[in-house]
Amino acid sequence: MADEGFDCDVLVVGLGPVGAMLALLLARSGVSAIALDKDTAVYPLPRAAHFDHEIMRLFQQVGIAEEVGRNAQAAPAYEFRAADGQVLMRIDLPQLAPCGWAAGYMFHQPAVENALRERLEADPLAQMRLAHRFVRLEQYADGVTATFAGPDGETQIRARYLVGCDGASSAVREAIGGALDDYRFDEPWLVIDAVVEPGARLPDVNLQICDPARPTTCVLMGPGRHRWEFMLLPGETAEQVLDDGFITPLIEAWDCGPVRLERKAVYRFHGLVAKDWRAGRVLLAGDSAHQMPPFAGQGMCSGLRDAANLAWKLRVVLRGEADDALLDTYQAEREPHVRTYIELAIGMGRVVCTQDPELAAQRDAGMLAQRAAGVAPLPPAAPAALASAAVMTGASGAGALFPQPVCAQAGRLDDAIGEGPWLIAREPCPEAADFAIALSDPRLAPFAQDIDAWLDRHGASAVLVRPDRYVFGAGEPAALAAAYRRALRPV
Ligand SMILES: Cc1cc2nc3c(=O)[nH]c(=O)nc-3n(C[C@H](O)[C@H](O)[C@H](O)COP(=O)(O)OP(=O)(O)OC[C@H]3O[C@@H](n4cnc5c(N)ncnc54)[C@H](O)[C@@H]3O)c2cc1C
Repeated sequence: MADEGFDCDVLVVGLGPVGAMLALLLARSGVSAIALDKDTAVYPLPRAAHFDHEIMRLFQQVGIAEEVGRNAQAAPAYEFRAADGQVLMRIDLPQLAPCGWAAGYMFHQPAVENALRERLEADPLAQMRLAHRFVRLEQYADGVTATFAGPDGETQIRARYLVGCDGASSAVREAIGGALDDYRFDEPWLVIDAVVEPGARLPDVNLQICDPARPTTCVLMGPGRHRWEFMLLPGETAEQVLDDGFITPLIEAWDCGPVRLERKAVYRFHGLVAKDWRAGRVLLAGDSAHQMPPFAGQGMCSGLRDAANLAWKLRVVLRGEADDALLDTYQAEREPHVRTYIELAIGMGRVVCTQDPELAAQRDAGMLAQRAAGVAPLPPAAPAALASAAVMTGASGAGALFPQPVCAQAGRLDDAIGEGPWLIAREPCPEAADFAIALSDPRLAPFAQDIDAWLDRHGASAVLVRPDRYVFGAGEPAALAAAYRRALRPV
């Protein structure tokens, strides 16, 4: 699709999970993308351990759900326990969530990143360039030129848009101003990943051990791996806690049998949000735009949602089907969503990280009382519906995720009707939009009952679902289609 004079439509800087997903979504939808990374291979050790059902749906969309499934296991439950083992809070995770997959998965990040890159390599509209470090950029009215330092010296690439997916210390963010809003949560933790050997006895749920003497996380990862995270106590240094003599007794205390340590690292967990996610033709996604502590397992998930939100908007803008102003809805939609998860993660972190024994005893008593009363002690996990000019404000269901019904014989809805926006209507309405699908369409037959029930709940005869599977609005087909056209081209 790239115009003459441009090397590609979209230049993606950074090939972590977010950059790889964005480049893949773009290429699959007909947008040419060049994605570059300073390193020569996927970072070999996992950082993220968990993703949720919405993200599995995204992996499904780009055709790697099966491969991801081989490197993941459904998460059964998440428990916060007191130092004496009492359960302070338990979240049971359904094995079938609204997006048509289990609510959460524990996984091996490098395997998933490799699967994304393999798909990317096979796509004729995408190019990957490794060992290319982003150095600087210049913007013009119609495009961006970025300079990279690579094995053959400096090269320049010209694109219509550039997206910085270059992680926490983003050079692209710096290039566009770089201001960050800091939640002032800053906790150092030792992260230990282990390969599980035959005969090991490990917990089968994810755990936060709220022990004021040493706050600890113990979670599943992909099959055959387990992770511990230990909070550093005042006065402890990274050098000290990375010593095997320090680590061995911490793991032995779990009496878990044979495990082989695979990695050890100290991370500082914090909450940061870039003030501006867009400057002209340059946008930020993933850790370059926001970072959060890992207690809710949502950092990478949030970045992948950025990619899904941005990919379809860039596509319609580049095809001339939408005004460039549509890209302003990206931060407007994603930032509040991300902040909900940052605040949830920090809320969880503050519960876990309490080191004062008296405060910890009060916390335990409060959480036990809340548990007995059936009250959730944390802020709500579900972010509010998206609100921007890219949803039909006031329409029923607008800004919520559209569920993905599953049928044992026929599979999942998204595979049945494919990519792009959908206008699903009770009655045929081809005149409303060329992407209208009647509920009587044979492809919808296995899912018609679920969709019918959804329409009933929203008192609507049709629903318009955006390409990122968020509901634009529910209502009457012609009105939905007209509002969608107006949303793409705001006056
Ligand atoms: C201990 C820990 C546990 C976590 N657990 C979870 C979890 O369970 N679930 C979850 O969802 N998230 C989790 N996260 C967060 C998650 O790992 C990150 O949010 C995610 O990896 C961010 O992806 P990204 O693609 O935005 O950035 P990155 O993965 O950091 O990728 C950025 C890429 O950009 C490249 N790059 C950097 N600078 C340049 C440059 N100048 N030029 C070219 N390329 C460049 C890098 O080489 C890298 O490949 C965890 C994080 C940590 C540290």
